[in-house]
Amino acid sequence: MNEVGGVLDECVRYSRLIGADPALVLHGGGNSSVKTTRRDITGRDVDVLFVKGSGAEMATIDAANFTPLALPRLHDLLELESLSDAEMMRQLAAAKVDPEAPTPSVETLLHAFLPFPAVLHSHADVIVTLTNVANGEQVVGDVFGETVVVVPYVMPGFELAREVRRIWPEQADEETRGIVLLNHGLFTFGTTSREAYERHVDLIAIAARWLDETGPTSDQEPPELPPVLRTDLAELRREVSGAASRPLVMQRHSDATVRRFVARPDLASLAGRGPLTPDHVIRTKPLPLVGRDVAGFAEAYSAYFARHAPHARTEPTMLDPAPRIILDQEFGMLTVGASAHDAQVAADIYHHTMPVLERVEERLGGYVALSAERLFEFEYWELEQAKLRRAGEPPPLAGTVALVTGAASGIGRACAQALLARGSAVAGLDISPDVETSFDGPAWKGLVADVTDEHSVGAALDRSVETFGGVDIAVVAAGIFGRSAPIAELGEEQWRSVLSVNVDSVAMLLRDLHPLLARSAIGGRVVVIGSKNVAAPGRGAAPYSASKAALVQLSRVAALEWADDGIRVNLVHPDAVFDTGLWTPELIAERASRHGVDVETYKRRNLLRTTITSEDVARAVVALCDDTFPATTGAQIPIDGGNERVV
Ligand code: ZN
Repeated sequence: MNEVGGVLDECVRYSRLIGADPALVLHGGGNSSVKTTRRDITGRDVDVLFVKGSGAEMATIDAANFTPLALPRLHDLLELESLSDAEMMRQLAAAKVDPEAPTPSVETLLHAFLPFPAVLHSHADVIVTLTNVANGEQVVGDVFGETVVVVPYVMPGFELAREVRRIWPEQADEETRGIVLLNHGLFTFGTTSREAYERHVDLIAIAARWLDETGPTSDQEPPELPPVLRTDLAELRREVSGAASRPLVMQRHSDATVRRFVARPDLASLAGRGPLTPDHVIRTKPLPLVGRDVAGFAEAYSAYFARHAPHARTEPTMLDPAPRIILDQEFGMLTVGASAHDAQVAADIYHHTMPVLERVEERLGGYVALSAERLFEFEYWELEQAKLRRAGEPPPLAGTVALVTGAASGIGRACAQALLARGSAVAGLDISPDVETSFDGPAWKGLVADVTDEHSVGAALDRSVETFGGVDIAVVAAGIFGRSAPIAELGEEQWRSVLSVNVDSVAMLLRDLHPLLARSAIGGRVVVIGSKNVAAPGRGAAPYSASKAALVQLSRVAALEWADDGIRVNLVHPDAVFDTGLWTPELIAERASRHGVDVETYKRRNLLRTTITSEDVARAVVALCDDTFPATTGAQIPIDGGNERVV
């Protein structure tokens, strides 16, 4: 077993090196393997292939992501004349020597065939640059001479393995260092993973040098894009979501690569050629939308499905016809996904696609991708769709976008966390810079903003819409308590500052949010955090109690005015939520002693004798934002453990 550990660990190390370079593989692309012997439970030595599990990320792969299979059995399968995809996956599953290991890569049989202990496969940008041309075989010959085997495009899986097996004796000799798959990528191999890696890097360097000799790529600074209205972006997202019949996240990109690409006079022609490698199709669809005619795109996609579905390998179910990449001379690039992560994956892929398209077009005589027929075959390949399905059922708020104020702490933070957990992309606003790093991942955008400054809020709304495409859900949680004082001693500034944060800012925020919520992909949903003080005000808290009462009226008017736009507006009234920024341990102790009880008793001073947490409030808020209360607007829900003055 130690020996297995050694070669598998080495394979893991070099797989990660390949995965760490986005110019080689992106998001689940590429694969690797190593052949070795392993002593089984009966003491017999068996030949096994450790191959990457399907869909595993090369960048973060570890030994557990590799599947061990019986190598002699794989060689037997390669003798078959034909093998359907479903039967191949069944047979691979049956050849696993560990039943708990992941589903092996669809390229397992090709790895098994190659007569070397270690194999690495990537979709390197420079290789797909050389091979998405009319005369790919000739170009590859010019660049690499006789050192690589060249395989015209065939469908990955059993057919590709059989094709390589057929071609290998004709082309391979002791000088052979790799296989170039036209329109697809590169395989290298060796006695060790290190050798396979070094050959990979060498071949890529040779290709890169050759491409550099074809002339420099343009480094002219492209023009800036004109300013765009956030409502125009939100409107486009609504149309895209409508085409998909579900909410989708839409990211905007306007970096130099994007600006140069969308400024090209031949944008529509060049963008209409196709992806770098078929692997990308399930993330980007075969073609981007150029311009803003979403309905036209959806119609063309449906026609593409209708044209090719009758010839599909298995009966396909049409995927949603919404675009995943939108290229527009004013917007730049918009990338679309069922989650912020998916939109980011599509963006990463297309950022690599644009320079390759340009370079091939300008230097290699024209970009030629696979035919629509081939792309369809791959997009609807059951094994690719199975990869996506392994991600599981989407969470209930997948594809929605939420905006939360006061998101760096207390109830606001808890609401942001609960929305993220249910699949929303969340823009969190807070005056504290901590908000920027409150959560990790592409679904979180923390924005420093002073809610009392409308320019600051306007800029935050712009950033939110650029990051996620619009706003479906707004949770208004920013608020302050102010210093306790009887009215007889109230300072004007003390009064005004509390009303400014708790009411004035919300009126302006709601005004600015309305056009976005009215363009929501699901019907806008607003939850305002009120207070028990509205129904049961407290001595010494005049500004707070008055501000929260005004906030309730503001929210109720919004419920009246916005119902026609399909926007629901509801309130929750928390009380005694002691894990928020409003309550310090000293303040709690002071209140407890004023009531003549200990701190624990004070915290449970309600009818149910329960403690109330930010998470309790967040659960209620999320229920008002998802489909639990589709017919409720203008409602007020106490979250106070029961209060004699309220019930
Ligand atoms: Zn591949």
